[in-house]
Amino acid sequence: MASVAAWLPFARAAAIGWVPVAQRAFPKSPISQDSKKTDEKLLINVSGRRFETWRNTLEKFPDTLLGSNEREFFQDEDTKEIFFDRDPDIFRHVLTYYRTGKLHYPRHECVQAYDEELSFFGILPDVMSDCCFEEYKDKKRDNAERLLDD
Ligand SMILES: [Zn+2]
Repeated sequence: MASVAAWLPFARAAAIGWVPVAQRAFPKSPISQDSKKTDEKLLINVSGRRFETWRNTLEKFPDTLLGSNEREFFQDEDTKEIFFDRDPDIFRHVLTYYRTGKLHYPRHECVQAYDEELSFFGILPDVMSDCCFEEYKDKKRDNAERLLDD
């Protein structure tokens, strides 16, 4: 794929100028080819619990671990399965974020454990949805006070 991307700009530059407008058939952009090629199901194994999603779903948020090439460090070359030694309960909420664009806070989870999972996956809590943000903020404050008391 990298080699194709490298020659494409030259092919395009060569096409400009001498190909009549109506017949111009530029090579497909690497982006549209990529998205076709990458529209595949990915298997994510979190401490033995398996989740499946589309690659494009993850790439909606390219600044995160799952949305970037970083996830390949966790990918088994043979099985293609991506393995994380992390909390599968909290991971469900991480994955929901990619699917819906909404990050929710599970009330029953310890806020610190939740924060740790978010930071592992490179998601900032700022993106949390309004439905859960107040609850999350309150829990954070309570937790900070509790830690100060100790
Ligand atoms: Zn919510």
